[in-house]
Amino acid sequence: MKLDTVLTSNLSTAAPFGAPHGKGRAFRLRAHLIARVIVVLLPPRAFSGAAAWIAYGGFRAAADARLVDTARALAGGLDTLFACHEPGVLPATGSAGNGGPGNIPCAGVSYEAGAALAPQTGRRIRLFVEGAFEDRHAENLLTTVAGQGEELLVLSAHIDGHDLAYSAIDNASGLACALTVIEAIRDIVPGLKRGVQVGLFNIEEWALLGSAVHLAQMAPAERAKRVLNVNLDSLAGAEGITALTSGVPGMVEFLHTALAAAGMSVGISAPFMGNSDHANYLRHGIPALRLCTGFDRPQSNMRFLLTPADTPDKVHPHQLKLAASIAALLVLAGCASPAAPVPRLDEASAQRITA
Ligand SMILES: [Zn+2]
Repeated sequence: MKLDTVLTSNLSTAAPFGAPHGKGRAFRLRAHLIARVIVVLLPPRAFSGAAAWIAYGGFRAAADARLVDTARALAGGLDTLFACHEPGVLPATGSAGNGGPGNIPCAGVSYEAGAALAPQTGRRIRLFVEGAFEDRHAENLLTTVAGQGEELLVLSAHIDGHDLAYSAIDNASGLACALTVIEAIRDIVPGLKRGVQVGLFNIEEWALLGSAVHLAQMAPAERAKRVLNVNLDSLAGAEGITALTSGVPGMVEFLHTALAAAGMSVGISAPFMGNSDHANYLRHGIPALRLCTGFDRPQSNMRFLLTPADTPDKVHPHQLKLAASIAALLVLAGCASPAAPVPRLDEASAQRITA
């Protein structure tokens, strides 16, 4: 298969924090936030990176020009400084806000910096946030292996990561699995009822923008052809795989049916978590799940997510092989299923699940 690059989304986005100064509309921003600061040492937990992800979002958001006013409005108010949960002078990174009005500025610092600042809790400190921003062009990469009919199963993984990290787990592992799976089944899919679209999305780390734009620009009739999204995000660094099902009716049954015949299974987490691109499929009523690892395993290598310690040595080949095998079984089962593998969500259900 030739993995053609298809430009689907023209995203005008800001450069990562700390990127070199650019030309054009680039500008420097020096945000002066004078606030009472609470230092929060995030407890280690599975998906602790998600907490940092949330924390740093405000930091980035605050550095967005549109939030200068917000930051000023908050001056004298209550801001939050998040410390990385993991010692080792690892700054926390991540994003959550989309830079829109109302995002609350906050900042991420290392565990050690947090510990040093903790005694200052409740006191007035001055925080300087400085960065350079410029418009950038980002692309999603998509390719399709056609099946017998028009319907498609979407196998997705995000290709972006934060600039301070290797992003080996999050999400080179998911990307490697997606490419391995489609390479393995490319000659099988044409004989099945449904085809596979591989969606390698960009700007996931910033409010899931790449997949959001991709789906928003898609004609409703095209969206209707997509029957299931299997999203691969952070699939190595711990033993075992968990499916985030968002409580979609019929999803657990589909997982069991698809995997049991091969003697395999995954853990199930039902609460909706809008922490990766599957969330955008759900918002359009397309049944979607995320496969991940490290769920409820706080001491696994997942604790290094969104830090500079997310490095290749944390990724073990047998973990990748397990994840790819499970993903391949799900994709093949979804393509071969006589009826839709999981019932489509009506608008009210989609809204309720993703609220
Ligand atoms: Zn991710």
